[in-house]
Amino acid sequence: AKEQGQAWHMVFDTTMYDRAVALLQLETDLRWAIERRELRVLYQPIVSVATGRITGFEALVRWQHPERGLIPPAEFIPVAEETGLIVPIDQWVLRESCQQLRQWQLQFPDIKPLSISVNLSGKHFSQPCLVEQIDQILQQTNLAPSSLKLEITESVIIASPEKAASVLQQLKALGIQLCIDDFGTGYSSLAYLHHFPIDVLKIDRSFVTRLDKNGEQLAIIRAIITLAGNLGMSVVAEGVETTDQLVQLRLLQCDQAQGYLFSQPLNSDKTSILLAARPQF
Ligand code: C2E
Ligand code: CA
Ligand code: CA
Ligand code: CA
Repeated sequence: AKEQGQAWHMVFDTTMYDRAVALLQLETDLRWAIERRELRVLYQPIVSVATGRITGFEALVRWQHPERGLIPPAEFIPVAEETGLIVPIDQWVLRESCQQLRQWQLQFPDIKPLSISVNLSGKHFSQPCLVEQIDQILQQTNLAPSSLKLEITESVIIASPEKAASVLQQLKALGIQLCIDDFGTGYSSLAYLHHFPIDVLKIDRSFVTRLDKNGEQLAIIRAIITLAGNLGMSVVAEGVETTDQLVQLRLLQCDQAQGYLFSQPLNSDKTSILLAARPQF
């Protein structure tokens, strides 16, 4: 039994060791990812529920690793957050996607509105020069501030409400739109969020997924949409995968929707082709 115990211990240690080495390697590689131009932005359409037309995109980062292939954000964003590397990554995504959106606006002037939604990590959000940097990116890319939507989670606000309020006010003053991502998964209420200058609520996919099977979910989403409307916020349903879900959302007068039913996140070339086709879902 003792030998077995030792053997198990060794396996355990080796695994821990391997994991630590792999993590360190990932961090080292990630440090170079931007300079080596290994990061990619994919664009997922956001659609008006009423008209079925594309109104914008969410920018979603990927890492094209030379050996490991395309790595999804879930596998490197946590490491990036821990090491602070998320700040240059988020900045790069922001610049890249603002530039890209401006290009599409010039290329497809008849498609209006056309906005870009960019995710902002908590670390990035609490950078002292965030507002200045974003302002600079908007000027350099010549993008109207109203075309940019920044997505933050409730936890970012709750972590430091007073600071968050001040930063959000400054971003709002620039004319940028502000979104709460994954709404419903945190602990805050809409009544609480109303104290912050939020324009858009993105209802988390977990609520939308259960929409077609569960009457309670319908009631919850209806309540969110009604209250958001009363507070002057618009609502995006995330993770819409079925026509049934879309039909329900239409009945509930949800403003916008995003999900595999319309499109997966696409690279810029495929997005250009999609825009050129002017689809109506
Ligand atoms: P998120 O912001 O909630 O983004 C939505 C995620 O849901 C994306 O995963 C998207 O591909 C996926 N999705 C969209 N429609 C559907 C659907 O119909 N069904 C299902 N099952 N999934 C759908 P992705 O691209 O893997 O991103 C995961 C998370 O990584 C994002 O969640 C966001 O929190 C984070 N992330 C992505 N890009 C960035 C970035 O540039 N900066 C930061 N800070 N975080 C990012
Ligand atoms: Ca998001
Ligand atoms: Ca989300
Ligand atoms: Ca999420």
